[in-house]
Amino acid sequence: MTKLDDETRASLKTRSRLVHLGRDREQSQGFVNIPPFRGSTVLYPDAATLKSREQRYTYGTHGTPSTDALTAAWSDISGAAGTELVPSGLAAIVVALMTAVSAGDHLLITDSAYGPARAFANGVLKRMGVETTFYDPCIGAGIEALFRENTRAVLTESPGSQSFEVQDIPAIAEAAHARGAAVLMDNTWATPLLFAPHAHGVDMAIEAGTKYLSGHSDLLLGLVSANEAWFPRLRHTAGQMAIPAGPEDVFLALRGLRTMDLRLREAERQGLAMARWLSERPEVLRVLHPALPDDPGHALWKRDFSGSSGLFSVILKPASEAAVAAFLDGLQLFGLGYSWGGYESLVIPFDCSSYRTATRWAPGGPALRFSIGLEDSEDLKADLDRGFARLRATT
Ligand SMILES: *Cc1c(COP(=O)(O)O)cnc(C)c1O
Repeated sequence: MTKLDDETRASLKTRSRLVHLGRDREQSQGFVNIPPFRGSTVLYPDAATLKSREQRYTYGTHGTPSTDALTAAWSDISGAAGTELVPSGLAAIVVALMTAVSAGDHLLITDSAYGPARAFANGVLKRMGVETTFYDPCIGAGIEALFRENTRAVLTESPGSQSFEVQDIPAIAEAAHARGAAVLMDNTWATPLLFAPHAHGVDMAIEAGTKYLSGHSDLLLGLVSANEAWFPRLRHTAGQMAIPAGPEDVFLALRGLRTMDLRLREAERQGLAMARWLSERPEVLRVLHPALPDDPGHALWKRDFSGSSGLFSVILKPASEAAVAAFLDGLQLFGLGYSWGGYESLVIPFDCSSYRTATRWAPGGPALRFSIGLEDSEDLKADLDRGFARLRATT
C-alpha cells in the first residue's frame, strides 16, 4: 500500500475520506489505527529547540498525533480551515461563543437552542457583560431587524433542539455578515455529512461528537470547525481556555469516524420508517421530522440538507402525565435518558414552554423525543405498541 498522494486524496468521495483521512503509517508503525497518545511532557532534543519550541509537538494540551488525525479529517469533511477539540459538546458551544463575543457585545441566540447554551448566555456571558436576545428560529431574513450596533454573533441550531424547526442559515448568514457579525451553528443533528456548514455561510460550526461521531454512548467530545476568517481566533481562544479533549475519547472518536457515514445512513432509514409509523398511530397528533413532506421545515431542509439523522419528536394527542408515564415506564428496548446518536434507541419527554422566551410552545399535547438506534424496527414498533396499549389503558 502506497501513501495517498494529493491528487488521489482530492478525488476521493466522502466515504473513502472517512476511511483514509488522518491515518499515517509512520505514526502508527504500520498498524491500521493510530494508538491513543497519552501525555503531558514532550521531550526536546536540545536547549535550543526547547527555547524556540520549534518541533511539531510541544506539550500535552497543545495537540498529539491523535488529535491532529481527528481535526484534519473533521476539517476536511466539514470544508473548514481548521478544527479545535474540547471535552464536550457544551464546551464546544462555550469556546465558540467566547471566540465571538466580548464585554459590551450583543448576541442573538435561536429560541430553539440546546438548553445549556441558553443557560451559559444567561449566566456566565451575562455576568461578563454580554447581552443576549433570543429569536424565533423561523425568522429567516427577518433577523435583520434584531441587529444592534454592537451585535457580534448569531448562534443558530438547525433543526432546533427538541422542536426541530429548520432555520434559513444562508439568509441569516447574509444578514449577519452585512453587519460584521459571526455566524455560529450547532450542527450536531446533521453532522457535516448531511449539512455542509461553511458552504452555507457558517463561520464556526459546533458538533457534539458525543452523539453520532461516537455512535456508542461511550465518550464525551466537542468539535468546533471554522472558516479561514475565524480559525486563527478560535485557535487562540481554545488554547487560552485550556480545555483539551481526553486522549481516550479522541481515540474512540477516530474509531467512530470510520463508520459514521454507514451509521448515519442507517439512522436516516430507520428513523424515517419509525417516524412514518408513529405519524399513523391514532395516539399521535403529529411528528416533528423535517424529512417528512408535511413538516413546516421540509422545503428548507430539502434545499440545504443532504439527508436526515435518527432524532425526531412526536406530539401525542392530549393525555395525562400518568398515561405518558405508563407509556414510558414499561418500555423494554427504548431507554429513558439524555444524549442520543448511539446504537441504542432512547426516548425522553420534554416541554419547551418551560424555557422559551421569544416564541410560544403550545403543541397541543405531550411531547416525546426519540433517538432511533440500530435494533430491528419490528421489535421497536412492538415495544412502542405495548406502550401505547398502556397509555390507552391509563387515559
Ligand atoms: C448533546 C448536545 C450538545 C452537548 O453535547 P455534550 O457532549 O453532551 O455536552 C450540544 N448540542 C446539541 C444539539 C446536543 O444535542
